[in-house]
Amino acid sequence: MENLEETTGFMGNIAPSATLAITAKAKAMKAEGLDICSLSAGEPDFDTPDMIKQAAIDALLAGKTGYTPAAGMPELRNAIVKKFADDNGIKTTMPQVIVAPGAKFSVFSAVAALCGVGDEVIIPAPYWVSYPEMVTMAGATSVIVNTTAGNNYELQAADLEAAITENTKLLILNTPSNPTGAIYRKETLEAIAALAVKYNFMVLSDEIYEKLVYDAIAPHISIASLNDEIAELTITVNGLSKAYAMTGWRLGYLTAPLWLAKKISAMQSNTTSNPTSFAQYGALKALEDGEAAVNTMKAAFAKRRDLIYKLVNDIDGVKAIRPEGAFYIFCDISSFGLTSNDFCAQLLEKKLVAAIPGQPFGAEGSIRLSYACADETIIEAVGRLKAFCDSL
Ligand code: PMP
Ligand code: GLU
Repeated sequence: MENLEETTGFMGNIAPSATLAITAKAKAMKAEGLDICSLSAGEPDFDTPDMIKQAAIDALLAGKTGYTPAAGMPELRNAIVKKFADDNGIKTTMPQVIVAPGAKFSVFSAVAALCGVGDEVIIPAPYWVSYPEMVTMAGATSVIVNTTAGNNYELQAADLEAAITENTKLLILNTPSNPTGAIYRKETLEAIAALAVKYNFMVLSDEIYEKLVYDAIAPHISIASLNDEIAELTITVNGLSKAYAMTGWRLGYLTAPLWLAKKISAMQSNTTSNPTSFAQYGALKALEDGEAAVNTMKAAFAKRRDLIYKLVNDIDGVKAIRPEGAFYIFCDISSFGLTSNDFCAQLLEKKLVAAIPGQPFGAEGSIRLSYACADETIIEAVGRLKAFCDSL
C-alpha cells in the first residue's frame, strides 16, 4: 500500500485526552525538579484503602489469576446489582451489569455498541473531554448543547428539545459533573427523562463522582430511578476510580437494558475480555466494606472544596459557581481576554501552576482546577494564580 500513515477508520484521527496529557506534562516537569503546583489531576491524591489492596493480594495468592467471564465475575456483578438498588434506587439484574477495565471503557463500549454512522449524540457542554471523541470513534455525530453557570450548568429541557432530531440516538449526562462540579436537580432530570421517553432516545448517565457530593440540598439522583419508562432507556455508568481512590486498578461498570447489555458484552468479549481477575476481588471488597473509607476521603474533599472556592472568588476577574460534587472547580477567566489555552500555557510557564483549559471541555473562556491535592498545594497554587491574574 502506498500510504500506510493515512487512516480511513474512525479511530485513527482522535486527539489524545487533554486531561491526561496536561497532567502527565505537569508530573514530568515536577520530576525534572521544577517547583510545579498541579491543579490538573483528575484523580484522588489518596492511596487505595489497605483492606481493598489486601483483598486483591489474597486473590492473587489464592491463584485467582485466570480469565473470568468477559462481563466480570458473577459475585462482583451481583454486588453491583445490590449497589444500584441500595444507593441509586435502580432495579437491575446480573445479566444487565457489565464490568470493564475502567468506566472510560464502559462509556466507550456503550456508545460504540449503540451508535454508528448517521446517529446523533447530544452532549451538554461543558463536557468531559472524552465524550465527543468516543462518539467520533463510533462513527456517530456529536450535537453539542451549551449550558450556563446561571442554570447551574444543567441542560435545560427547552435547549434539549431544540436539538432533538429524528436521528437522535443518545444523550450523555454527567452528574456530578466533570469539569463543573454541578449536580443535576430532580426537576431537571424529570424534564429530560420526559423528553427521552417522548422522542424515544437513550440516555447514558455517567455517575462516577456519585459518592463525592457535599451538600444536603444537592443529593445525587440517578435518572434511571425516576420511573420504569426512563429506566428502560438508560445506561448508568459508574466505577471504582474516584470514590475508592482506585484509578490505576482500571475498573468501571454499567447497567443497561438487557438487549443493549448483550451487545456491549459481545463487544467486550472480542476486545478487552475480562477486567483483571484479582482487581475484581478488590472491587468486591470496596463495594461491600468501603463506605467508611469513602466517607473519610469525602470529608477531606469537602473541606478543600470550601477552601478553594473561597480563595478563587477572592481573585478579581475570576468567577466560579460553588461546586457541589466531584473535585473540580470551573472558573470563568474570560475577563482577561486570553483564550483558555493561552491562559493555561502562560500560567504554567510564568507561575508553574498546571490547570486544564476549558477549550477541550467545550467551554472556551474557562479553566478547570482540581482540588484533589493537599491544602498547602491549593493555597500556594491559587496564590500564584491570583498573582498571575493581577499581572494581566
Ligand atoms: N467519567 C468521567 C466524567 C471521568 O471524569 C472519568 C475520569 N477518568 C471517567 C468517566 C473514567 O474513569 P475511569 O476510567 O478511571 O473509571
Ligand atoms: N477523568 C480525569 C480527568 O478528567 C482523569 C483523566 C482522564 O481520564 O481523562 O482529569
